[in-house]
Amino acid sequence: MSDTEYDVVIIGGGPAGMTAGLYASRACLKSLMLEKMIMGGQMMTTTLVENWPGYPGGIDGPELMMRFQEHCVEFGLETGYGAVEKIIDNGNSKTLIVDGKEITCKAVIIATGVIPRKLGVEGEQALVGKGVSYCATCDGAFFRDVPIAVIGGGDTAVEEALYLTRFASKVTLVHRRDKLRATKILQERVLANDKIEMAWNSVVDGLESDNSGLTGIVLRDMKTGETRTIELQGMFVAVGVTPTTDFLVDLIALNEEGYIISGEDTCTAVPGIYAAGDCRTTVLKQVSTAVGDGAVAAIMAEKYIDELEYQS
Ligand code: NAP
Repeated sequence: MSDTEYDVVIIGGGPAGMTAGLYASRACLKSLMLEKMIMGGQMMTTTLVENWPGYPGGIDGPELMMRFQEHCVEFGLETGYGAVEKIIDNGNSKTLIVDGKEITCKAVIIATGVIPRKLGVEGEQALVGKGVSYCATCDGAFFRDVPIAVIGGGDTAVEEALYLTRFASKVTLVHRRDKLRATKILQERVLANDKIEMAWNSVVDGLESDNSGLTGIVLRDMKTGETRTIELQGMFVAVGVTPTTDFLVDLIALNEEGYIISGEDTCTAVPGIYAAGDCRTTVLKQVSTAVGDGAVAAIMAEKYIDELEYQS
């Protein structure tokens, strides 16, 4: 069997990756967790997490992730920053190309999560940072006492709309249907909030701007086809997510939306490569399910490595 630098490399530093790191290092596997951007993943842009057990009243996403990070290095997990460009499957070892350099290991756990989906309306990209945002906790404070809109009807859109009422003079929540997708408790809160106005059955058809940035959005009524312009300074897009799996296209099976196809055992079609958390085909995307996946993936990797050693 070839010598490798690590037993396990975990790609992604969100809840799934950190839990995988905790379990793998506690199992005495030489483990490295690589993160491309910010340790903590999507939770770093989440305000109050109300459904993580053990914290009645909720806990802030970044605070929870800080605790995860402190805990996951306790048993010797190494952490580092780097973008994985490619994974090469050599059979009993894997080679990762990370920012042009090679890292070798026996097993890989992919926990790369998801990123916000773009709306796809003309001018959107050019107005990012000038009124268009994908993160209320990052950018909300820039929109004090001005009207804004949130686009989407899922948990993220509703949570962001509620959060943004702290800053904005008014929040228009634009949803393409007449029923929100978000959890019932969040729906009730948003519908009861005086600062939030619903724009039902509506989609964004265009953006208006001047030299200072976004000045309005053109909404089209899905039922009547009529259009109207709302004057505002901010548009927060929360229309779902896309998995971060581009670098895997030639290696493992992805579904049509780009999610890694794997079962509850987190195994992919390639022996020694596991997928944990939001980046794989799951029925529920929550911190609790990501944590469960991370634990399963690490134990599966441990068993795989034991088997390799037994064979050699
Ligand atoms: P999501 O659940 O997929 O919701 C996306 C929303 O955007 C839907 O309402 C969808 O409309 C709408 N949409 C999609 N494409 C659109 C387009 N092109 N134009 C206009 N609207 C569009 O995504 P999410 O809210 O980001 O949540 C992702 C996952 O994370 C979910 O599983 C969610 O439950 C979970 N999450 C959980 C929490 C929590 O537990 N506190 C918080 C945040 C996220 P339709 O409804 O018509 O499809």
